Parts: sequence; structure tokens; C-alpha cells
Amino acid sequence: MREPLRFTGKIMSVTVSRVADRWFASVTVDTEDAPRCRAENQGAVGVDLGASTLATLSTGEVFAGPKPHTALLKRLRRLSRSLSRKSKGSRNRAKARMRLARLHARIANIRRDALHKLTASLTRRFHTICIEDLHVRGTPRNRHLARSIADMGVTEFRRQLQYKAAMRGGWVMVVDRFYPSSKRCSACGHVMEEMPLSVRRWTCPECGTTHDRDVNAARNILANGLARLSGPTASSAEPEACGEKDSGAPSLCLVRETASMKQEVRFVPV
Ligand SMILES: [Zn+2]
Repeated sequence: MREPLRFTGKIMSVTVSRVADRWFASVTVDTEDAPRCRAENQGAVGVDLGASTLATLSTGEVFAGPKPHTALLKRLRRLSRSLSRKSKGSRNRAKARMRLARLHARIANIRRDALHKLTASLTRRFHTICIEDLHVRGTPRNRHLARSIADMGVTEFRRQLQYKAAMRGGWVMVVDRFYPSSKRCSACGHVMEEMPLSVRRWTCPECGTTHDRDVNAARNILANGLARLSGPTASSAEPEACGEKDSGAPSLCLVRETASMKQEVRFVPV
């Protein structure tokens, strides 16, 4: 195929890769800095990543996320079974393997799409975004599901937020995972002793406020992130680097713009 590049600049490298039966060429182009478009408001938001939903915001908004699982997982099981029944080295086995690989790629694409939409929406709308440190709380029933969220979701979520926020001059605040965001009442600060994962709504015994579990957690993450922003870390000359949290304290994560952009060209299989 032949296609003009979307970006002008010096071509730095090309990486060719294959996912299932599709080929991709990823072209890195060194460009002029992209014009900055700022976030729509200078507001801040707390984000709670969940197991049952993709994310809950401190505003009360819920991103349900894609549900490729129920329908596609059934097909995944069927194709895996079908593959294991084919005799080794046969042409039918190769075909079955390709079908399975295509389905895996499709599920991954659905997740990736949802994640990009979420991070684009957050960075477009909010200047300061507070998130929790990489960790999926609790243990969802489905281990495969837990894996997929842990493997791709959280790490990739943070990576996307950071580079997209940087493009708009925004901030990503990372709140320590040991901060009791679920157990703490966001209204009065009372910390509950226990908060089982099954409890979706609860009422604070101190102030009587009824909370949605995830919204309350997102509000706490926001409050903790903002406290850090106006605290001693913010006034120090060098913000802590992303990903270094040996001090146990929440780290301030300042992200910078990068000069290079990536363009992906898809080769249509013949
Ligand atoms: Zn309370």
C-alpha cells in the first residue's frame, strides 16, 4: 500500500508488527510541538477505577465500560475447545488458531477503544485529574477478567492520562494505594473499620450521609489529590517523578510534552 503520512517532519523509525492476521506499520515522526488545546475548564476530578464498572468520577458520573465479555467470552471458550480438538500440525488447526487470535485481538480492541474514550474525555474536561495508584482493589470473581483489567486497563489508563494531560498542560495526581478511599466517609472523614466489596451503598454512622461506594471513593481520591497539590510537595522545586513511591506518600506527577507523535498505518490483508 501507499499512503501519505498525516504528520510532517523527520521520520525517525518504522516498526512493523502483526496482530492476528493484520499487519501494522507504526511510523514515528519528529514533529513541531502540537498546538496546545487546554482543558475545557480548570476543574479537578477524582477517578475511581472499578472492577464492575470502568470508572466512577467524583462528580457521580459512571463510565460503564464495554461488556465484550459475556458474548465474546463464550465464543472464546468455544474456539479454544475447537482448537484443542484439531490434530497437531494440521491445516485445520492453523485455521482454528487464527480464528482464536482474531477474537483475542477484537476483545483487546474493544477494551482499548473504551479506555481511549475515557482518558480523552477526562483530559478534555478537567485540568487536574486525581487517580489511585496502580492497583485493582479486591478480587473480582472472574480471574480472567481481573487479569485483563490489571494487565491492560490500569497501567494503560495511567499512561494515556499522563500523555493526554500533558498535551493540554494538565495535571495527573496519583494518590497512594494505602489511602483508605473506600472506607473513609467523604463528608465527615470518619473511617470505617470494614468495608467488604459487596457493600455498594452505605450510611456513615457519624454524620448519617448515605454513600455510593464508588462515588465516595472517587471523592476521597479527589480530596487527597488536592490536599497534596496544595501541600508541601507542590511548593518544593522538583515534583516527585511518576512511579517512584518508596516514601509511601502520594506522589505528585507532572507530565511533560513530547515532541514526537506516532502514526499508525494499517496494511489491509490481501
Ligand atoms: Zn460521615
